[in-house]
Amino acid sequence: MSDTQWVYFFGENGRAEGHGSMKDLLGGKGAGLAEMTNAGVPVPPGFTLTTAACRAHMQSHGVVPEDAETQFWDALTRLEKVTGRELGGAHPLLVSVRSGAKFSMPGMMDTILNLGLNDLSVGAFERETGDPRFAFDCYRRFITMYSNVVLELPRTKFDHALESMKERTGAENDAQLTAESLRELAAEFLAIVAAEAGRPFPQDAREQLRLARNAVFRSWMNPRAIEYRRIYHIADDLGTAVNVQTMVFGNRGSRSATGVGFTRNPSTGEKKFFGEFLVNAQGEDVVAGIRTPRPIAELETELPNAYAQLREITARLEKNYRDVQDFEFTIEEDRLYMLQTRSGKRTGFAAVKIAVDMVDEGLIDEEEAVARVEPSGLDAFLHPMFDAAERKKYKAVAKGLPASPGAASGRAVFTAEDAVKWAARGESVILVRKETVPDDIAGMKASAGVLTATGGATSHAAVVGRQMGKPAVVGCAKLRVDEAGGATLDGKPVKEGDWLSFDGSTGEVMLGRVPTQPSEVIQVVMGKRKEAKSPLYQMFTRFLSWADKHRKLKIRANADTPLDARIAVAFGAEGIGLCRTEHMFFAPDRIPLVQAMILATDEAGREAALSKLLPMQRGDFAAIFKEMAGRPVTIRTLDPPLHEFLPKREDLMVKVARLEAEAKAKAKAAPKKPVKKGAKKAKAAPPKDSKTLVDTRALLQRVEELHEFNPMMGHRGCRLGISYPEITRMQARAIIEAALLAAAKKGVAGAAVPEIMVPLVGTSNELRHQKAVIDDVAAEVMKKKGAEVQYQVGTMIELPRAAMTADKIAELAQFFSFGTNDLTQMTYGFSRDDAGKFLADYQDAEIMKHDPFTTIDVDGVGELMKIARDRGRATRPGLKIGICGEHGGDPATVGFCHEIGLDYVSCSPFRVPIARLAAAQAAIRERRGAKA
Ligand code: PEP
Ligand code: MG
Repeated sequence: MSDTQWVYFFGENGRAEGHGSMKDLLGGKGAGLAEMTNAGVPVPPGFTLTTAACRAHMQSHGVVPEDAETQFWDALTRLEKVTGRELGGAHPLLVSVRSGAKFSMPGMMDTILNLGLNDLSVGAFERETGDPRFAFDCYRRFITMYSNVVLELPRTKFDHALESMKERTGAENDAQLTAESLRELAAEFLAIVAAEAGRPFPQDAREQLRLARNAVFRSWMNPRAIEYRRIYHIADDLGTAVNVQTMVFGNRGSRSATGVGFTRNPSTGEKKFFGEFLVNAQGEDVVAGIRTPRPIAELETELPNAYAQLREITARLEKNYRDVQDFEFTIEEDRLYMLQTRSGKRTGFAAVKIAVDMVDEGLIDEEEAVARVEPSGLDAFLHPMFDAAERKKYKAVAKGLPASPGAASGRAVFTAEDAVKWAARGESVILVRKETVPDDIAGMKASAGVLTATGGATSHAAVVGRQMGKPAVVGCAKLRVDEAGGATLDGKPVKEGDWLSFDGSTGEVMLGRVPTQPSEVIQVVMGKRKEAKSPLYQMFTRFLSWADKHRKLKIRANADTPLDARIAVAFGAEGIGLCRTEHMFFAPDRIPLVQAMILATDEAGREAALSKLLPMQRGDFAAIFKEMAGRPVTIRTLDPPLHEFLPKREDLMVKVARLEAEAKAKAKAAPKKPVKKGAKKAKAAPPKDSKTLVDTRALLQRVEELHEFNPMMGHRGCRLGISYPEITRMQARAIIEAALLAAAKKGVAGAAVPEIMVPLVGTSNELRHQKAVIDDVAAEVMKKKGAEVQYQVGTMIELPRAAMTADKIAELAQFFSFGTNDLTQMTYGFSRDDAGKFLADYQDAEIMKHDPFTTIDVDGVGELMKIARDRGRATRPGLKIGICGEHGGDPATVGFCHEIGLDYVSCSPFRVPIARLAAAQAAIRERRGAKA
């Protein structure tokens, strides 16, 4: 026999063998019961069989280790001694048998109450309590639960018998059934068991307990528990503990009750006692919804002494755990017992409020407050939300990937142009697309939200949605978008102008207009509400200022416009980590010039178009530098393949065909010129094509030339700048001239230090080429203007080859920025725009835990990042390295970036607060780990 302790007793002489920090072994419930007992809280005595016993039970296919078995029955004997009762005896002990894993898995596993009753002990129980109604109420409950959990009989027959008894006797609810009815019902239940199970209900109480214990262990592996663990990433091998505890009875009459509650409101964080209870009931009634529970405040008038004690104890528990408690209690004839306490789950909004309040109350310090709040929960402060009461009135008809959080309501439009038009009329619109493309950007901006049928977490709609703080649901499989306009959602037609609503935090889509309310924090950031008038904003920024004291990573934002830059700074960004210049090319006044450049047949033609773009680009950069007031700004040279700036091939083909048909019809209808008498019959010249037709044909021809089978791996990134150096030249000129302007205004010290970043570099020679182009232009501009400005040239690391050759690349690059969208795409060979179609299958089949486009793949992409870091810094010690892929706003990735010693993360302006918090938590974790 080993000397393993398999069982931990609680409640002998007010002490427990376990304690609150033993969740791994005792489960959350067992640890809580031990902690409460030791704190002098009234807890019915009992014992916990450990999770280790469950693991052994699983490994040996249903056998509990021999010494665990011995300790279990010894503990029962001890419990009988402590309570002065005997399981199944003349002075019967009744127990509950409840599951309890390390992590709470509400309702996923099994529980049995009132165990120990049989035909004999129920009589003894009746005599002892002098209350036959109560005794048989317990017996009928026990038979049902036991039969369902242990004998695996469906509940339906028992429920039908109960219903028909209520009907026969005219009882409105269970509590109105008389002793006689319940006695009869218990007999009926026993007959059901005999008929359904083919054997009588077990009368041996120890046998009841043994089988119940094993059934609770088994329930760890029931399908819903497995599914729950899959969703919440809980390991399957942890196992559950079993808690055997003396029963106390909330169903013992009108001075008895049972309920659940929280020490503070888990939804708003308000410091207000929160919960529900039922008089004359057992715990299962509250959860099962057979009767409607009452608000806990009413308990004060109903059972004032027990209520006062409950308030006192739960306040003490909160103080002890220094966190909001979610508790269960039972009142038996005015006496209060606590059955469970644990940290309460809460919304992101409540999490911050509670943490800040607890600092002010002196319960926790600032570091603990920062460590506790889930970073992604901060979203709750930033996005418009549905009015909770209104939302309940609508049913979700479909569900997609929750790509960009927030609530959106608007009228369906199917093209970006319509979105702009409708929005200009003051309409709120939802842009519904199969997928979005970069030239939808204006339409996206004009919409309240974007809903797409395909695409993953880094698809265009998702990236831009997040960047704009625009709610987005992508990859919505039940959405069918008809190319001719119109769509269906789960088969229901959606016409242009129909109201749609969706929740970007859950992915749920509703037909109709669910009213929303704007986020107060955003209103302050946009200058629409005064900071002094928003305690909410003050709380938010106060909390984040604590985070800033801890973090080591700098936080930058991906921003392409002065407005983005302003918002980013208001949220605490310390620089711009990625300015995607192509987004500037899509503005309506620029796109014709960009197209003219693409259509030009020679360099002179391209230069002519570019010279018109130059002042515009210079203006863009100057405005961004102004907003950033000397903070670093990383500007990337042109990246996307050129065809993205041109209309679609199919659209052009249709247009050419239409124009040709029109021209033909026109020619036919034109009056024929009379032929002069005697003149030779001349062949009629074909009518001249219109300029539009000629231009459209030329455009189509260029689009066909630019067609690529795999544009993401095609002529893009620095490859464009190498084929057309004049594009890089124009952009470099615009950047340096704008920086000189800023320097002239601010003085060199306060001026921007532009970081010019070359995309999609795979070999050092590519960077060498582009750097030479940039340096030449910079020298020329500075010479001409007679002024100097600091700038840097660096590169994105977004190809595996760049990571592997980072030592060579760092000879030239003054900084690295990981473009993890492409690095993930190129490492896996998954197209970032198509992976959304099958990644869900991968997650379902547990091939992948996370979407690698959302959370960095540490083993693959992460390793490449470490290689690039090591090789880059070996060549250039102290090389500045950041990340600007979408992962930069993902808390887990931010943690990884801290661990591998990056200098900064860059994310969308609206994720800056999340990144600040995640970076602080990574630093706190590291410090605490070093201490431990
Ligand atoms: C990246 O690839 O991670 C990146 C930031 O660039 P883009 O998403 O624009 O390709
Ligand atoms: Mg990229």
